[in-house]
Amino acid sequence: RIVYVNGAYVPEEEATVSIFDRGFLFADAVYEVCAILDGKICEFEGHVERLIRSLGELDMGMPVSKEELLEIHRELIKRNNVEQGAIYLQITRGTADRDFVYKKDMKQTLVMFTQAKGLTEEKAGIRVVSAPDIRWGRRDIKTVQLLASSMCKTMAKAAGKDDAWLVQDGFVTEGSSSNAYIVTKDGKIVTRNLSTSILHGITRKAILRLAAELDMEIEERPFTIAEAQDAAEAFFTAATAFVYPVIEIDGVELNGGKPGPVAKRLNEVYIEESRKSYI
Ligand code: PLP
Repeated sequence: RIVYVNGAYVPEEEATVSIFDRGFLFADAVYEVCAILDGKICEFEGHVERLIRSLGELDMGMPVSKEELLEIHRELIKRNNVEQGAIYLQITRGTADRDFVYKKDMKQTLVMFTQAKGLTEEKAGIRVVSAPDIRWGRRDIKTVQLLASSMCKTMAKAAGKDDAWLVQDGFVTEGSSSNAYIVTKDGKIVTRNLSTSILHGITRKAILRLAAELDMEIEERPFTIAEAQDAAEAFFTAATAFVYPVIEIDGVELNGGKPGPVAKRLNEVYIEESRKSYI
């Protein structure tokens, strides 16, 4: 694989970052992941907008222009010949001797790589378990501080399930790397309202817009695991998962253990719309 590191396209074995990089020492870094569909980038504008916001919240700016960033995305996809998959970018504050205090305007590190994987196959649905949300308080900033999420998902896998839905004060915040939704028995789509408790998903925004266009009723509010277990169906969204059905929550099957119709429809519509707007 050819990856990008600070201005250079190199084979992955040759890409290096300093051990003094603050991304490595302090998780002082933000990231974004866009889906690649038909060799094109989905929702680029939305992801860059969120990236600029994440950087701003951490007192950083963009190391390259939006146009340059798009160019690097396109070049990496081309060099790796990716038809479907993910393109990951990470920006760290940069390299300095270890010190909790950071300096303004450091030379930032920018790395990017692609991951080829199929995105449009039929989705069987996943089984989730709940876990306490032990992440930090600014989940609206997309930092690489992902250890809590990583531990929760690993725990879910060890329990023979697929992912964890995180719970704080009795309510689901989101999935370990996705936004969480239920569809009530009277057909309403419920997903947690935006705040610092969750990541403001780019797919979430698109799906809520599409659902509204399809005249589906939406409620943005917290829900409990018990309400989710009693729902008609459940699903999650994330950039490279699109709309993915959830068929079991803490051992209780939903929709007879089969993907639900709302998740399936929204996934189809999302892929259709992506094919109209990707760049
Ligand atoms: N929530 C968390 C914690 C995430 O890591 C992600 C990323 O995939 C999402 C939600 C979904 O965001 P997006 O749709 O922008 O990929």
